[in-house]
Amino acid sequence: MSLNIRLSLFALACFFLTGRSSAQEKYDLLLRGGHLIDPKNRISAVRDLAIVDGKVAAVAERIDPAEAFKVVDASGLYVTPGLIDIHVHVYAGTGERNSYAGDNSLPPDGFTFRVGVTTVADAGCAGWRNFEDFKERIIDRSRTRVLAFINIVGSGMRGPKFEQNLWDMEAKPTAEMALRYKGLIVGVKTAHYAGPEWKPVEQAVEAGTVANIPVMVDFGSNLPERPIGELLTKKLRPGDIYTHVHSGNRNEQDSSGKVSSALWEGRKRGVIFDVGHGGGSFLWRVAAPAVKEGFLPDSISTDLHTGSMNAGMKDMLNVMDKFLALGVSLDDVILRSTWNPAREIKHEELGHLSVGALADVAVLRLEKGSYGFVDMYGARMNGTQKLTCELALKDGKVVYDLNGLTRPDWESLPKDYRQTGNPRWDRINVGRGQRPRPQQP
Ligand SMILES: [Zn+2]
Repeated sequence: MSLNIRLSLFALACFFLTGRSSAQEKYDLLLRGGHLIDPKNRISAVRDLAIVDGKVAAVAERIDPAEAFKVVDASGLYVTPGLIDIHVHVYAGTGERNSYAGDNSLPPDGFTFRVGVTTVADAGCAGWRNFEDFKERIIDRSRTRVLAFINIVGSGMRGPKFEQNLWDMEAKPTAEMALRYKGLIVGVKTAHYAGPEWKPVEQAVEAGTVANIPVMVDFGSNLPERPIGELLTKKLRPGDIYTHVHSGNRNEQDSSGKVSSALWEGRKRGVIFDVGHGGGSFLWRVAAPAVKEGFLPDSISTDLHTGSMNAGMKDMLNVMDKFLALGVSLDDVILRSTWNPAREIKHEELGHLSVGALADVAVLRLEKGSYGFVDMYGARMNGTQKLTCELALKDGKVVYDLNGLTRPDWESLPKDYRQTGNPRWDRINVGRGQRPRPQQP
């Protein structure tokens, strides 16, 4: 046997043993020349990003492309941590009408990777009675990382008959379920309550205290018996989350149009403020003066559901665009869509690109032109910038690729080409059709 043949056999053996074709290619994937924004590590500069075994392996001004199995040119694009949307509704598929544990929810994978989102938190569609069904039906079967706020209502968000029933709001079983699925259940949600009682908030906080997780509040109807000031300065704990901050529905503004002093006081105490745009919770006349006053939301989120997906709210990038239109910097918008929400839900392994971190990555294009952005009442604001997602990676693998950045030109392939891609970096095409060819990065 000639040396050459022996060497190729050795290389082949190496590939089948390790999935790697050459000892020199120590990285699976290299994103080259993108402008990397990693707020946790205070990086906003052109950087190469290398990935191995699903984790970030190196971030540097220059990484030798010869060290990577697959090289992708990201120049002119922004490379950010995978976006984290902590307010979505994804308990779809039960068949229940007019219910967020049913028809009002959406299957996550159709709405996430295409806009750079790799992690979502469902905002209370399920309570302790149906959380395990939600987990089995959606969480365990989605490619998107799906986490959840558990509803303080045992039956979850199934409509007024359930959500106004004070007797089904119990801290104990809620906390027990949250502790059983620690890490998966990231908070307790209270929402839509229309009565004068504090019980929903109090039970949610009690459950959150036992399970050591935050509470997210949709404050429901605005009532004099339970004013927002008392909620933000007395009832909620530091780290609890007030969502729908720009709705204007619950005295988030005072009569002169300024940010209510309750919000400033709440922020001073450590209460967190989240967007939760949705179909009825984002108004230019509330958000614009708030941003001007310097009151920015801690986290940007969509409140994605069937009633919001085709309305003023389009998707995560659309909500982020709105803050760009309000003059917030891209770095700041990325902070509030990655590292901030990761911290809010106590998943500090997510939302950044430190070496060793899970390689959830969004590659975004900032387009310049003439755009319009619409609020919940259909009022438009003009803007000149819009984000689109070119590429999304989850756990180091490409899960979305808008323009085929990672794909070979068909004319460069053999006449009878079949499956392209390689499991070292690809999760889109792998497994479909033939086994990928090891020689083909
Ligand atoms: Zn919601």
